[in-house]
Amino acid sequence: MTLTGAHAFIWAGDWSPEGARRAIAGAAAAGLDFIEIPLLHPDAVDVEGTRALLDEYGVTCTTGLGLPREAHITVAPDRAAAFLKSAVDVASRLGSPVLTGAIYTHLGTLTGKPPTEEELATTARVLKDVARYAADQGVALGVENINRYETYLINLASQALEMVKRIDEPNTFVHLDTYHMNIEEKGFYEPIVAMGEHLQYVHLSESDRGIPGTGNVHWDDVFRGLQAIGYQGRMAMESFAAVNPDIIGATAMWRDVVGDPQRLVTDGFAFLRQKAAAYGLG
Ligand code: MN
Repeated sequence: MTLTGAHAFIWAGDWSPEGARRAIAGAAAAGLDFIEIPLLHPDAVDVEGTRALLDEYGVTCTTGLGLPREAHITVAPDRAAAFLKSAVDVASRLGSPVLTGAIYTHLGTLTGKPPTEEELATTARVLKDVARYAADQGVALGVENINRYETYLINLASQALEMVKRIDEPNTFVHLDTYHMNIEEKGFYEPIVAMGEHLQYVHLSESDRGIPGTGNVHWDDVFRGLQAIGYQGRMAMESFAAVNPDIIGATAMWRDVVGDPQRLVTDGFAFLRQKAAAYGLG
């Protein structure tokens, strides 16, 4: 049985008290186990208020982020480490067992070049330090591959796995996102199977970030791959129906790809649940 949740940006573009209630109430109404809380500004999160809302609605949480522009890991490794550790502190206080996502890059920072060996070594060194810090607080770190238009560092599942192996800490795992895979991979089944036990988090997202089941993602190949590795990790539906000013530039969501946000929740989860059940993952 895999845990099923959704990213908060389906309901709210920020983690204000109002946004937090809307997202947590929405996740509860959809029958989800967890809500993924964005920690783009960890210091601004009302931890006690969020915990009270999670208790009220009977929902658990995970946390995710991208780095601030001024803390892009290869340019400002010390700042990145400090930012990530402050996010780990908040994740731990929220009761989240994971901090995942674009933890190695500012979304939208490109160099016009492929990653250098020095950049990858710096990334692994910083994330190893943060992973050890997180382990003491019972938090695991996820590395999510992101498409080439948002980062140059880790575009493929295989590159995420290489980074996880390079970090070489037991509380570090691969996080795949079907939206990014649709841009970067030759297919879905083989990259998923190649991750094996290292895959512990999946963003289920349509090719246009709209309602799952209405676009170009090969969902049967996705779930067949997850079934083949006996996937036990988390699955979170991700869309950006609500606009967040920190990431809209990088994600370039200039059109409304969802339409009625309630259809994203009802039709999207109905589709994903039916597929998951068909492949023994429900
Ligand atoms: Mn994602």
